[in-house]
Amino acid sequence: MTPPAQPLASAAAESIIRDLQASLPGGRVVTDPDVARSLSRDQAAGAPVGEPAAVVRARSTDEVRRTVEICLRHRVPVVPRGAGTGLSGGANAIDGCVVLSLAAMSDILVINPLERLAVVQPGVINDDLRAAVAVHGLWYPPDPASSPWSTLGGNVATNAGGVCCVKYGVTREYVLELKVVTGSAEVVRIGHRTAKGVAGYDLVSLLVGSEGTLGIVTEITVRLRSLPGASTTVAGFFPSLVTAGTAVREVGAAGITPSALELMDRFCLRAVDDWKQMGLTAAGDVLLLARVDDPEPTGSALAEAIVEIFRASGASWAERSTDADEADALFAARRLAYPALERLGPVITEDVCVPREHVPRMLTRIEALAAKHGVQIANIAHAGDGNLHPLIIGPPGDDADSWRRIDAAFDGILDAALSLGGTITGEHGVGLLKRGGLVHELSPTVMGLHRAIKAALDPAGILNPGKIFE
Ligand SMILES: Cc1cc2nc3c(=O)[nH]c(=O)nc-3n(C[C@H](O)[C@H](O)[C@H](O)COP(=O)(O)OP(=O)(O)OC[C@H]3O[C@@H](n4cnc5c(N)ncnc54)[C@H](O)[C@@H]3O)c2cc1C
Repeated sequence: MTPPAQPLASAAAESIIRDLQASLPGGRVVTDPDVARSLSRDQAAGAPVGEPAAVVRARSTDEVRRTVEICLRHRVPVVPRGAGTGLSGGANAIDGCVVLSLAAMSDILVINPLERLAVVQPGVINDDLRAAVAVHGLWYPPDPASSPWSTLGGNVATNAGGVCCVKYGVTREYVLELKVVTGSAEVVRIGHRTAKGVAGYDLVSLLVGSEGTLGIVTEITVRLRSLPGASTTVAGFFPSLVTAGTAVREVGAAGITPSALELMDRFCLRAVDDWKQMGLTAAGDVLLLARVDDPEPTGSALAEAIVEIFRASGASWAERSTDADEADALFAARRLAYPALERLGPVITEDVCVPREHVPRMLTRIEALAAKHGVQIANIAHAGDGNLHPLIIGPPGDDADSWRRIDAAFDGILDAALSLGGTITGEHGVGLLKRGGLVHELSPTVMGLHRAIKAALDPAGILNPGKIFE
């Protein structure tokens, strides 16, 4: 039997809980310690997690505003949260904070086919929006591999990327307007719903990717496109990471922009096979999956060109898929890679992005770092973007020596990406895990600009403090 959970409340916590309960409708304030703790962290292994005073499950912008107002009065941190699928510790509780869950604000408010836009609450799940707009022949492209679970609010706050972003761009390119509660508990609308609009500074772009540190997003207007037509998938198996990386570089060098170009290495293929028995490992060591959605006859010509590039780069096997179910299964395997690896132990996720020409060199360096520090590093990648996810598999227990080696490999990967002209995070955000890397990427002057912007939007410093930078 597990022992009963200890209550969260200290005297300070009791006082803020009283004020929140007095101001919000019944049931909004969660004080049950087990439930509160289950809503106090994201999926980043190795990131510290604090003990919240309470969790608020808001249902409207006004409830968010009132929550922020009370936290401001008490000078208590507010940690916003969507689905908690983040991989950088961004939604992790800070001791004594209020975790503000937006998950229950999950209505799609408007779908406007004429203006090609949708207005949603932040708790709408990415796949639910995609399904709802598809009925109108419309498409919301940003498709993180977490699209069945992650929320639009979390996607906006992290500027999420995904599989088709190599051709269609990331979340920032689709956000037109936001309703935001600032750190001063004011409700503001920023951006525009028109097709064009340049009135004032581009505050929408500033808020997108701000990881809950500049404002709480309570409504999102997104741009939509027409649903794409049929697509062709090309699969290639390679004997090594470096040959697959060369193929990625050569696809870019040929001026081809596929609508997906994904990589899975042998560790991922094996983990998915062990779980789902898909027979992937029998075919080769590293899988590259490309998708082309240009209209015919261009689509077929580009798919054929990619097959040729894969072969010329050293693929042991490369073909166009003639079976749509088989192609879907391969992309499903790519989406399963992360949960499959999690079955082996804690997964410490990197998210570096390098110029495409350096993908082969970066992959070589990752292999060298794994050997140097004696750690297992699996690789999945939105390879066409140069966005690599080296995944360091941690030990099941608390072995201090293993964790020291993992830390060294983690820092080595960030340094390698920066030395190749890359960035420490392509899409997951800085959160808690990459704060050390950020100070190597940004100059002291730019860090100062960050602090000045934070002070303007959140003068009391209550919005997700300690995330992105101290
Ligand atoms: C299996 C798996 C695959 C993934 N694949 C991808 C991928 O392909 N591409 C990618 O980009 N990411 C990916 N991720 C990471 C993660 O899904 C994204 O970062 C996603 O955008 C997080 O959404 P969420 O709703 O879970 O947000 P959370 O994890 O709850 O929060 C993320 C951050 O946003 C802030 N936040 C949340 N909601 C709001 C709001 N309404 N207002 C202000 N701040 C807010 C939080 O404070 C936190 O800093 C993956 C994760 C998993 C587990």
